[in-house]
Parts: sequence; C-alpha cells; structure tokens
Amino acid sequence: MPAKIIDGKEIAREIREEIRGKVLALAAKGIVPGLGVILVGEDPASVSYVTAKEKACAEAGMASFERRLPASTTQAELLAVVKAYNEDSKIHGILVQLPVPAHIDEKAVIAAISPEKDVDGFTPINVGRMMLEEPCYLPCTPNGVIELIKRSGVQTKGVHAVIVGRSNIVGKPLMNLLIRKSINATVTLCHTGTKDLASYCKTADILIACAGKAGLVTGDMIKPGACVIDVGVNRVEDPKASKGYKLKGDVDFETAAEVAGWITPVPGGVGPMTITMLLSNTVEAASRLAK
Ligand code: NAP
Repeated sequence: MPAKIIDGKEIAREIREEIRGKVLALAAKGIVPGLGVILVGEDPASVSYVTAKEKACAEAGMASFERRLPASTTQAELLAVVKAYNEDSKIHGILVQLPVPAHIDEKAVIAAISPEKDVDGFTPINVGRMMLEEPCYLPCTPNGVIELIKRSGVQTKGVHAVIVGRSNIVGKPLMNLLIRKSINATVTLCHTGTKDLASYCKTADILIACAGKAGLVTGDMIKPGACVIDVGVNRVEDPKASKGYKLKGDVDFETAAEVAGWITPVPGGVGPMTITMLLSNTVEAASRLAK
C-alpha cells in the first residue's frame, strides 16, 4: 500500500500560526523578535537559504537584520560582526550561514555566538545543554524532524529508529533527541563505516536518512509500514529542468513510497520545518532575553 505523505509544508504552516500568536503577544509588550543573519560569500544555495529565512521572518511579523560579507572577509572581521550582534539588544537570535569560506575557522565563529542567542543550537554550550536535557535551543533540522514525527501520530515509544548519517548538525543531535524518555526510541546510528547498511535499515520502524547521497535508501531497504524521513537535499543534474538540476532526497521516493507507512517528500518535507524551528527558537530567545 502506498505510504502516507508527511506534508512538511502543512505542518510547518500550523506551527507558524502558533509562532505568529507568540509574536503578537510579544508585540503587545513592545518586543519584536529579531534574527541577525550573517552570510559570507555568494554560494547560491546559501544565498537562497538566507533569503528564505528572511522572508519567513517577515511573514511571521519578526525583524531580520542582515550582513552579506564578501568571500574575502577575514576571520577577525567576521568575529567582529558576531560580537556586534551579541551586543545588539534588537537581535535575539544569531545565524551564521554555513559553510563559511575555507580560510575561516567555522568552529571559532560558532563558539563566538552568545549561547543565549544561538538559535541554531550549534555552540558547544547549547550542544552540552541538549545532551544534559537542560533548557537550550535545539538544533533546527533535528528538532523539525521530531516535530514531523510527533505531529504525524507516528509511534516512537519502544520502536527502533535508524539514522543514516552522523553529522554534528543532523545525525548526532537526532540520536540524542530520539533517546530522550519523552520519545523513548532505541537508536542505531549508521555512517560510512557501517557494514551492510541495508541490514540495519530493514529493521527500522523509523528510518531517517541524512547522508547527503541522492537515492541511497531504496524501497528494498525499508521495513513494510516504516516511517521514512528524508533529510537529504541533493542537486542532481537534469537538463530538462529549468535550472539544469532537480532537488532529490537521500531516499528513492518512488520505490520507498510503495513499502513505507509514512514518508516525507523532497522538497516539501523536512526543509520547511528547519526554517520554522529557527523562527520558533528566535521567538523563544526574545521572550527569554526580555525577562
Ligand atoms: P554531512 O556533514 O556531509 O554528513 C553526512 C553523514 O552521512 C556523514 O556522517 C557520513 O558518514 C554519512 N554518509 C555519507 N554517505 C554514506 C553512506 N553511503 N552510507 C552511510 N553513511 C553515509 O551532511 P549533513 O550536513 O548532515 O547533511 C546531510 C544531508 O541533509 C545533506 O543532503 C544536506 O543538504 C541535508 N540537510 C538538509 C536540511 C534541511 O533543512 N532539509 C538541513 C541540513 C542538512 P561519515 O561520518 O562516515 O563520513
């Protein structure tokens, strides 16, 4: 039986309505949540992500502040902009669009963001707080995946979740969130050192692909009825497409949808949730900083 499509756009729309309510409540107290965005260089994917985030802020009634810096920006110059944002009371959340150019130490830049404004949840302090289940900003993509699963009514307690990919921004934090008692899944984390990836995927009640490899997970690797979440966004050449490429997930949608119980499309699955969780974290930051 074909899988139920988990509509990320629709779930994101619902959450953005909730966020809009919180923005209005803050506005009544004279507070406008502000996101400070920093983009270094002109990588087309980064430019489009930043533009989408700023548009989403405006639609939610929030302010966004932008610094677009040339690719030649030095690390010291970038750190100075981060410091200025840390000190600016109109800015409640800071986002440095990654990747930064190779001559800049990404870790040093992330660590320079005030943890109280780290709405991406990438600073070492926020990562530690997440691990310890202390109040923190949860990283947007993993938290968006959890919201998609919860709001689709997928059972998580006692199930086996398999994650394909162990990056610091997606796979590892997802593992952390899925093992929380409130979710209570048992987790297997796969990576390029995993032998026989398919054998693990086939045992997954929830399968999350975040490897950045188009079509890595095929229908024959999926347990019938499983919930399949495709985080991957890959540009695949397509001469027939107007841009010369198509966006494809890490899951081969056609074969997977025949076997899975639930599945997210690409685009329109996890992507809209990532931006939504960023807005949510920024509103939370504005409330906390206003206290
Ligand atoms: P990343 O840093 O490149 O990490 C990829 C991970 O996948 C690594 O841990 C790698 O293993 C593992 N991997 C790669 N090929 C594999 C294979 N054949 N078998 C098993 N494991 C494999 O990527 P990322 O930043 O986490 O992003 C992953 C994907 O999600 C990308 O397509 C990215 O564009 C997308 N993404 C989407 C959103 C969104 O909002 N929709 C947000 C973030 C990322 P090793 O550690 O062994 O190298």
